This record gives sequence, C-alpha cells and structure tokens, in this order.
Amino acid sequence: MTAIVIPEGSLFGLDNLPYGVFSHAGGAPRVGVRVGDSVLDLAEALGDEVFARPSLNAFMAQGHQRWVQVRQAITELVSGEATGDVAAAVYPVAEVRMQLPIAVADYVDYYASEHHASNLGRLFRPNAEPLMPNWKHLPVGYHGRAGTVVVSGTDIVRPHGQYKAPDDPAPSFGPCRRLDIEAELGFILGTGSPLGTSVPCDEFGDRVFGAVLVNDWSARDIQAWEYVPLGPFLGKSFATSISPWVVPLLALEAARVPTPEQDPQPLPYLRGSQPWGLDIALTVSWNGQPVSHPPYREMYWSPAQMLAHLSVNGAATRTGDLYASGTISGPAKEQRGAFIELTWGGQEPIEVNGEPRTFLLDGDEITITATAPGAGGGQIGFGEVSGRVLPAH
Ligand code: CA
Repeated sequence: MTAIVIPEGSLFGLDNLPYGVFSHAGGAPRVGVRVGDSVLDLAEALGDEVFARPSLNAFMAQGHQRWVQVRQAITELVSGEATGDVAAAVYPVAEVRMQLPIAVADYVDYYASEHHASNLGRLFRPNAEPLMPNWKHLPVGYHGRAGTVVVSGTDIVRPHGQYKAPDDPAPSFGPCRRLDIEAELGFILGTGSPLGTSVPCDEFGDRVFGAVLVNDWSARDIQAWEYVPLGPFLGKSFATSISPWVVPLLALEAARVPTPEQDPQPLPYLRGSQPWGLDIALTVSWNGQPVSHPPYREMYWSPAQMLAHLSVNGAATRTGDLYASGTISGPAKEQRGAFIELTWGGQEPIEVNGEPRTFLLDGDEITITATAPGAGGGQIGFGEVSGRVLPAH
C-alpha cells in the first residue's frame, strides 16, 4: 500500500518520479514530484526549503549524490516504508498549474539525427551531398535563445520575418507562411564546469539532471533565407517549448541502448566508455491526431557526446543549461519529427482530421508525448509538451 494511490499501469510510478514546478490556488510556485495523478509538494513532505523555490536550479546545483538521496527519500515516503504524513502535501495534478521547471541558463540545439539531417540537406540543398563533410565527425549545433524557452501550454504567436523564395526578385516581410515544429529531447545540466575546462563523455551521468520533451518551433521560410552563412537565427528564436516534468536521468537506466554504429570512429574526446543511446518513443499529435512516431534510439550522436563537444573548447557550463537533441527522425516516413520532412517541403500533404495539411495554420495545436522502458518492467512517461498557434500580431 503506497502513501499515494498510483493507478494500475500509470506512466508515473515509483520508477519515474519526475520533478516539476507547480503552483496551487494562486500560491507561490514550488518544486513537486509527480506520483500517479498527484503532485507531492517536496518542501512540505521533506521539510527542505531548497524545494520552496520557483525553479529546480538550487536543488540541481546540490549535485548527483544529493539527487540520489532525495530520490531514495521520496521513494521511501511514497511507498510507505518511511513514516510521515504526506496527505497534506499532495495535490491532484488536475488542480495545479505547471510552470517552467528551470531557470534556463544557456540553450544549445543540436542536429543529431542522421535521417533528419539527410532529409533537410536534400530539401535545402537539392544539388549537393545531403550531409555536410563535418556531420559524422562532430555533433553539429548552434546557440539558441534561453529567454524564449517556454513551458508547455504557452501559446505561440506566429512570427514575422523576412523571406525570399529562390525565384522571388527581392525579399518580402510579413507573418511566417511555413511555420513548423521539431520534436526533440532536451537535456538539463545539474552541475556546471568552470571556464577553461571541459566535460568528458563519462561525466554525463554525474552532471546531467534529467530530460524533457522539446518542440523547437521553426519558421522555415525565414530560416531558408537567413541561415547561410551563420546558421539558424530568427527562424528559431521566437519560441521553444518544453514539457513541465523533468524525468531524472536516474529513471532512464532501463532505457539505455547503444547508439547506431558510428563510422568513421569519432575523435577520442567524443568516445565514452558507456553507451548513452536512449530507447524513448515519441508521438507527435496535430489537433489531437497522431501523425508521427519519432524514435529517439535512432539518434546518431549521444547526449554524452553532445555535452563533451559543447565544452571541449573550454566553454563554461552552468546549472540550468539546456541542450536539445535536434529533430528526432527515424528511417520511415511516419517517424519524421518535423512537418517539412513529413510533407517533403510541403509538396506531399498529409491528412489531418480529413484535411490535407502541410505547415501550421493559426489555431493549430501540437502535442508531443513520449514513453520509455522503466526499471519496474513497465513504461514511464514524459507527460507532454503542447502549444497552440496564435495569429501574428
Ligand atoms: Ca531544432
């Protein structure tokens, strides 16, 4: 008998225990952990003020050993092994409002799916090799905009920008006409590293606190005109949505798998002794209809390699750094994690609720969910990242 009822088959059993920041009845935001369909107020339940804060950062900064201890303490409390009255610290998940779980320090976005990078290469550069010569030697990424990372449920205003199709005589300005999504996984750094040092692949498990779902909203027309030579800028920076529940890396042990074979072998700093591929299955729903099932296990570069690469030049890292994987696409059409790929640049519409669709219209709502194998033999869930498109202002 657990101290909190966990429904049979729940994706939020004791083998998950994701952390988030919630508010209840207009109260101040604080840290909670999700158990079944309930949220446990950790400041109340564990009597520790580090959880009476509007972000996970102070707790994350305490480090890996502390994360293990707290997870153990929560497990004992919820399973009924430890004495304590948790009833006063429990809220139904339907009655709380979820907030952005972390104060985002820096934000980096990668491009780690070979299938996605190859498809985008064919679409953006039809007369060239789909993969650039560096792609299999380093995880390609760019620095994004931390200040526009928003929590699931935040409306997305259609961005304005410049665009120019190849045959247009001059660029024009207006609301984006090719608004898209990118289904990704994001990794949150718990403890950082000083300027002038780098983080080896094998420190990933100690430093990364957990993972969230990411929707990297993308304005393809703005992106296509601006991205040469310095990469994505305004086509990406208007909004990036993340899921409110941070699934601890400690809950993903049963999901670990090798990455696909890496040939050529990467340079030594990108080789770790531990496999950090992850068997996480995503679903993208467009106005409630599932349209794609991106498999994270197909990602070429692991998140441990991404962390090693982003710090190998001595760049400092900080608590609250977020780095996303890049669009997750598998080899099959129905596994593509962006609509530009799924509809092949808009030339092959897909049917959504009976209508042929390519890019996003005002009012559209996108929801991304995911599950992974849990330590208990069942599945654990990431919850969802959801957002609705509002007309341009
Ligand atoms: Ca992206």
